[in-house]
Amino acid sequence: ATILGIESSCDETSASICIDGEIRSNIISNQTVHEKFGGVIPELASRAHQQNIIPTVSEAIRVAKIHKNEIDAIAFTRGPGLLGSLLVGTSFAKAFALARNIPLIEVNHMQGHILAHFIEDPKPKFPFLCLTVSGGHTQIVLVKNYFDMELVGQTIDDAAGEAFDKTAKILNLPYPGGPLIDKLAKEGNPRFKFPEPQIKDFDFSFSGLKTAILYFVQQNTKENPNFLQENINDICASVQDRIISILLKKLKLAANQLEIVDVAIAGGVSANSGLRSALVSLAEQEHWNVYIPKFEYCTDNAAMIAIAGYYKYLNNDFVSQEIAPLARWSVSN
Ligand code: ATP
Ligand code: MG
Ligand code: FE
Repeated sequence: ATILGIESSCDETSASICIDGEIRSNIISNQTVHEKFGGVIPELASRAHQQNIIPTVSEAIRVAKIHKNEIDAIAFTRGPGLLGSLLVGTSFAKAFALARNIPLIEVNHMQGHILAHFIEDPKPKFPFLCLTVSGGHTQIVLVKNYFDMELVGQTIDDAAGEAFDKTAKILNLPYPGGPLIDKLAKEGNPRFKFPEPQIKDFDFSFSGLKTAILYFVQQNTKENPNFLQENINDICASVQDRIISILLKKLKLAANQLEIVDVAIAGGVSANSGLRSALVSLAEQEHWNVYIPKFEYCTDNAAMIAIAGYYKYLNNDFVSQEIAPLARWSVSN
């Protein structure tokens, strides 16, 4: 079956063609309008999606070397995300399905991040544990089957990606800060020790870390106005180290308690080179089978929506034209 996948939950407009479980194209239009505001402006995101969606879909069809009449079903991100952004993808998908008289498939964006692991081999075996770390979420998910997932832990305040992005703002780095902190940390020594939050079970917290960094920078800048410029690499390395240690401590705890040895990471922050290598080391120590997505499938993309759509297509799991997007939607249903 040939599936067209559409992703528009935040600030990436993306379209992908999946044929019998194989990704043939994955076109991602990044929105640059948000850079000067230091964060995503929902109204501008929605307008940019409207401008991008048709060219992005056309490009995905062209790169896949198919004709649009060959598409058997259309899968779209129903949520969670920005409502105005989700509406563009949802409306497009509904119109396309109606015009072509093909089935419509809803996909949960957080399930999509996890199911990106089924694009290429080796594919994880069920049940596995997935640490999903993105701009809006930080979750530990027990994945029992493609669409049978249980949330076992999550952040009680900021997401890991938010911790990267808000720290970057404090450090006067441009948005989105995650990739830049990653790059600067490579030349740094993690010699500053930031506090580790004490949070119960498999839950996370990052807002205390953000505050600690803010005070640390303010205090040191008072004593030395050039403190930031002189120590930017070491500060980035220290912040990144602490975020990684917070994440992996809880992932290890969850895997040990649930007795799971197949462990994956997903979401935008799983592109972080420090997290990727720390996870590989931990997996060796713990004798885990570890699954790390290719870079292009970490941040938002439609390939993950198309592959999730393919597995739903096999189950005849379709939705009607009455479907509406959901700003909030749990990974577990
Ligand atoms: P959600 O999936 O929760 O709805 P989102 O879709 O906005 O949120 P993603 O696109 O999955 O999130 O991820 C974006 C986040 O990933 C941003 O916070 C960004 O800073 C972070 N990120 C991307 N690359 C890196 C990296 N190399 N190191 C750290 N963080 C990164
Ligand atoms: Mg984004
Ligand atoms: Fe995402």
